[in-house]
Amino acid sequence: MEFSLRWRLLPLLALLASFLVLYSRTPPKGSSSDCSILPYDHYWITSKRIVTPGGVNPGAVEVKKGRINAVVEGAFQHLVHSGAKVVDYGDAVIMPGLIDVHAHLNEPGRVEWEGFSSGTKAAAAGGITTLIDMPLNSFPSTVSEETLKLKVEASQQKIYVDVGFWGGLVPENAFNTSALDSLLRAGALGLKSFMCPSGINDFPMTNATHIKEGLNVLAKYKRPLLVHAEIVLDSERKTEPNADTSDSRSYATYLKTRPPSWEAAAIRELQAAMKETEIGGHAEGAHIHVVHLSDATTSLDLIKFAKSSGASLTVETCPHYLAFAAEEIADGDTRFKCAPPIRREDNKQKLWEALLEGHIDMLSSDHSPSVPDLKLFDEGDFLRAWGGISSLQFVLPVTWSYGRKHGISLSQLASWWSERPAKLAGQRHKGVIASGNDADFVVWEPDVEFELNENQVIYHKHPSISPYMGKRLSGKVLATFVRGNLIYSDGKHAAAACGVPVLAK
Ligand SMILES: [Zn+2]
Repeated sequence: MEFSLRWRLLPLLALLASFLVLYSRTPPKGSSSDCSILPYDHYWITSKRIVTPGGVNPGAVEVKKGRINAVVEGAFQHLVHSGAKVVDYGDAVIMPGLIDVHAHLNEPGRVEWEGFSSGTKAAAAGGITTLIDMPLNSFPSTVSEETLKLKVEASQQKIYVDVGFWGGLVPENAFNTSALDSLLRAGALGLKSFMCPSGINDFPMTNATHIKEGLNVLAKYKRPLLVHAEIVLDSERKTEPNADTSDSRSYATYLKTRPPSWEAAAIRELQAAMKETEIGGHAEGAHIHVVHLSDATTSLDLIKFAKSSGASLTVETCPHYLAFAAEEIADGDTRFKCAPPIRREDNKQKLWEALLEGHIDMLSSDHSPSVPDLKLFDEGDFLRAWGGISSLQFVLPVTWSYGRKHGISLSQLASWWSERPAKLAGQRHKGVIASGNDADFVVWEPDVEFELNENQVIYHKHPSISPYMGKRLSGKVLATFVRGNLIYSDGKHAAAACGVPVLAK
């Protein structure tokens, strides 16, 4: 064991352990005790570093029936009645579980790429307690009440963490208010649209008119529109100097095909819609969220301006834009291909500045795997390979490892990965360690270093396609709790997958 649960009653450790083994074996599969490695519905967890909105302090958290019953700073033993269970995590950090608002689990329809079981096992092992599944890359895409139901059905008994769903805003439903109404009434947490081709045939791109229509419907439900903000500028493509695409094995070639001006053009196109989300605007109550911002220059300036003018607007970026720089990507290494592309070192530094200054609101994985064949490793053709970065299980150590050089704090991590994503997804009882909230935690050791290689147990499919393989990282997840269930501990998952679908009401 790489860590030990330090029970208060140490002499009873052996007895307890045997009890745990017996307990976990006896109940039939699917019973509530299979949901948790810790068979109690009332217990305390304690450590020297608990991350709450008040800061990082020693203390304890009381968990009762899946909810946080109390958060106590400093001494807490006097509050624990005799016989109550206490799990002491020592120096490890207890943080709110991560909420990943941007993941592609691809089920139903493309389970050979990823799936609910493999994806949520990876999430659990990475400290993610809720993830919101994107409406595309599964088949069919989630663009109607019926296809959302297919998603929810496909997730039954397979999800280890809680999973919510974004619906898709596409030309087919954008002018059909009743179709959007029924998708949102069925529980989609918001809508997602593309301003450029998505790469998936049954998920066509939308224009500013579609987006305006969608926002008007979203306003009634006070839910967000997530936008992939890139617009194809053909003229730019032709006039770009040195736009020679002959060497498609070179990352620089790919980078030139998707310049920052594509992102800026999309955000400019969104300006009128952003204005409508202001107080008194036609779409007041709706919200625009720009996904995976890569351009830290003009695009970021436009976003800052819209925010300061009163638009209801947030923006995320992803760890791969903060960890990697275009200059470092080797010829033919298509593991790094994604859209928008990873840009140069100076842009990366600007993204970090924007995140630290609060102009970028949150982080997401954009975990978007495929089968290795589609990455065309033999040819190493950046122009033809599937674009998407596989990273779900690693986002916490990756953000921490690369962020430490920029002096990030545990409180910032919790804000970017839990508190703000919870707000975006409308989850008022998640994202913060506070009484009354769901008992969703990640327990981790920030200083434990490891090399990410085949010796680690990686739960998402096709780990070899992740560009993080071979990297030295810092930050080891010890345990993950979802609604009070200890679903991952010391390298093992709970016997049953007891995550629930998170549907908007
Ligand atoms: Zn995506």
